[in-house]
Amino acid sequence: MVYDVAIVGSGFSAIAETVNLLRLLPPSASIAVVGDDPGFGRGTAYRTELHVHRLNVPAARMSLFADQPDDFVVWLREQKRAVPPDGFASRDDFGRYIRDRLASLLRNRENRATLHFIKAKATACDQCSAGRVVFQLDNGTSLEAANVVLCLGVGSARLPVAPTGVTGPMRERIISNPWRLGWLSHVEPRQTVCILGSGLTMVDQVLALRAHGHRGRIHVLSRRGLISHPHLTRKAEPVAPELPSSREISMLLLALRRQVRAGADWRAVMDGLRPLTQGLWQELTDARKGRFLRHALAWWNIHRHRLAPDVFARLEALLGDGTVTVHKGFLQTIEQDGTQLAFAFRPRGGVGGIRMRADWLINCTGMERAGIAHSPLLRQMLEQGLISADKRGLGICVGGNAQVLDRNGRPQPGLFAVGALTAGQFWEITAVPDIRVQARNVAVAISDHHPGAKDSASR
Ligand SMILES: Cc1cc2nc3c(=O)[nH]c(=O)nc-3n(C[C@H](O)[C@H](O)[C@H](O)COP(=O)(O)OP(=O)(O)OC[C@H]3O[C@@H](n4cnc5c(N)ncnc54)[C@H](O)[C@@H]3O)c2cc1C
Repeated sequence: MVYDVAIVGSGFSAIAETVNLLRLLPPSASIAVVGDDPGFGRGTAYRTELHVHRLNVPAARMSLFADQPDDFVVWLREQKRAVPPDGFASRDDFGRYIRDRLASLLRNRENRATLHFIKAKATACDQCSAGRVVFQLDNGTSLEAANVVLCLGVGSARLPVAPTGVTGPMRERIISNPWRLGWLSHVEPRQTVCILGSGLTMVDQVLALRAHGHRGRIHVLSRRGLISHPHLTRKAEPVAPELPSSREISMLLLALRRQVRAGADWRAVMDGLRPLTQGLWQELTDARKGRFLRHALAWWNIHRHRLAPDVFARLEALLGDGTVTVHKGFLQTIEQDGTQLAFAFRPRGGVGGIRMRADWLINCTGMERAGIAHSPLLRQMLEQGLISADKRGLGICVGGNAQVLDRNGRPQPGLFAVGALTAGQFWEITAVPDIRVQARNVAVAISDHHPGAKDSASR
């Protein structure tokens, strides 16, 4: 069977793409979704079942549908799990919401395209030409489609240094993918845990450890030791940023700081900046993009990706009572020391190495950058020249309509990407409010070339 569209991936981006295509394509069309995620539709972010794992975006901005912004808030109310529109629901609830919304679309079999879920991983792309893309799947079959949307997410980051001499069961104490939460039940209450990275993933793991009864010390090591700020308890309306004509990073940041010094709440200014971020990113020269990533990214992340206020308060309490200690420095070595792991790091601005021991090492670095190295499929497609890698390590090169570019920068007919893989072109494309718009735009681009598609403006 040749599908009209194949969606590769099974996280939020894949489901957002699927629901948009179901709304636009005629009943004669066929769609396949290929993924091996155990919680189909939940992906990395929403498969957690721990109530302490909360959304970091207010409920009112988390609808699956760009044109029905209050849909998630309505669903929460229907489920009697209401949180205020500017409150922060659990990620578990969000995972259920997207599955629920997909299920209701699927119940209505009449008047919608055929949809097949294929539980597999795509391992290679055999052919990519106008009207025909063929993938090999790890279940031994192949999949052929006229259009393909890659929704592969980010994958987990590699450890910044390779462990040396860590053998046997001690290897199991180094967790490279913290989102497979099974490791938590093996941690003993008084064991010492070292977490690499101080971003939102670190906060999640600290709360998950506490929820599992861990009461030992937690060391956090990151290059700058910066931790995300909290959202305001009472939301401030976004304030339009007063930007200069210059696109020099230092001038842009200076203008924002001036506006804050003049009395605007910085969170409101950041929120006002958000709808402009993609356009601003695209106006930056390569050199300026590089400067932003080298010098401003860590600060951008802690202001832009904020924590729910009560989640922040919990973390603050653990920092205050010494349970969690944050170290600023650069990891140098990971070794085995008897029944523990030993680390050495160079403190930021210092010399020499500080040694530390822990029972567990949890890698919470990365996530926001979607490289290619983690994905055998992308590596194969790169070798074949079907895709090209963003030179800053921000996924793959796509055009303004999210169409994938080949090694010569030519758009690949019928091949699109959605989500963080397209960060090199769009930058602000890792969260639901942005992905849902992109998923809709890609669905419109595909349906525009499909005979009998519903009029996108009327749906
Ligand atoms: C812990 C965490 C919390 C977050 N919280 C929020 C939040 O509160 N609000 C918000 O807006 N955003 C949040 N985000 C951002 C989040 O990344 C997006 O909201 C969204 O979940 C991204 O979904 P995705 O489908 O693009 O990627 P993923 O969820 O990573 O899904 C990618 C899927 O593709 C599959 N896949 C990969 N390769 C293949 C292959 N070759 N063949 C088949 N399948 C493949 C993977 O198995 C995976 O299921 C959070 C992210 C994380 C990690």
